[in-house]
Amino acid sequence: MTGVSTATYEQWNKVAQVYPISVTPYFFSLAVPGDILDPIYRQFVPDESEIGLSSEKPDPLGEEEHMPVPGLIRRYEDRCLILTTHLCAVYCRHCNRKRYWSGRGAIRIERSFPAILAYLKRETSIREVILSGGDPLVLPDGKLEYLLRQIRKIPRVEVIRIGTRIPVVMPMRITKRLAGMLRKYRPLWVMTQFNHPREITPWSQMACERLISAGIPVSNQSVLLKDINDDFITLQSLFRALVRISVRPYYLFQCDPVRGTTHFQVPIEKGKELMKSIWSSTSGLCLPRYVVDLPGRQGKVALDGEGFDK
Ligand SMILES: *Cc1c(COP(=O)(O)O)cnc(C)c1O
Ligand code: SF4
Repeated sequence: MTGVSTATYEQWNKVAQVYPISVTPYFFSLAVPGDILDPIYRQFVPDESEIGLSSEKPDPLGEEEHMPVPGLIRRYEDRCLILTTHLCAVYCRHCNRKRYWSGRGAIRIERSFPAILAYLKRETSIREVILSGGDPLVLPDGKLEYLLRQIRKIPRVEVIRIGTRIPVVMPMRITKRLAGMLRKYRPLWVMTQFNHPREITPWSQMACERLISAGIPVSNQSVLLKDINDDFITLQSLFRALVRISVRPYYLFQCDPVRGTTHFQVPIEKGKELMKSIWSSTSGLCLPRYVVDLPGRQGKVALDGEGFDK
């Protein structure tokens, strides 16, 4: 990048030893060159605070303790989540699973899937399966289809979700062919993560439209991020823009206290104030639930609620 000093490169290198860097040319192109405070730039450029002294845990939600079989997280009775890969097109610096990036805990779905499938077959209360990671849409179409086909063979599994940031960071990956393949496995829901209104471009709009036209609803889970989207205008524009491209604002997540991400945390009181002003001034279609994820079986807890009436 132009105008970057040697000292900065060294700093990036140091952080990248612990938390690697990945960005797509497309997502990179959305950042304003040379502006280190740019809200897109800050989502993929490492920051020294990621590796500073920290009392935070790498896995505060206790996901590892809720894996009945390796690669399957179960924190709810009726639904569970499968880690399909540790790879992502862009490594979002605020990611709450960044503990996987180093490759040491690499996820090899071809190895873990037989046991996962056997578990899904015998656990009779599971009716929803979420493909996550990492980003499942970095897998080749064939591998992805294999997973979907095997899960669909279990009649009890009513709904499949795919959690992916690909529509935001690599929208050209959502080809007609991919949408055509995915449509065969409906009811299928795609959960994506737009964090800033500038991420909504003709490209990302096209990606979402392809999915929606294939009968796959797209919902959005934003993360509340300090100096990226923690102000009224940005959040309101984001939620409105999502509705304009027919994407449902589903959750606004409080940033979890995960090691290496705490510089992105916004105080809950501030988040509540923001959501309160948005609730009182914005169409109901534009309102996600503001939630915090709590360890283990406590799961997601709403932070909006009383005092939020329109
Ligand atoms: C978030 C999450 C889910 C889905 O929760 P919803 O509130 O239904 O969106 C399921 N399993 C795990 C492990 C999760 O972290
Ligand atoms: S796409 Fe999701 S899993 Fe991948 S780095 Fe970003 S937040 Fe983490």
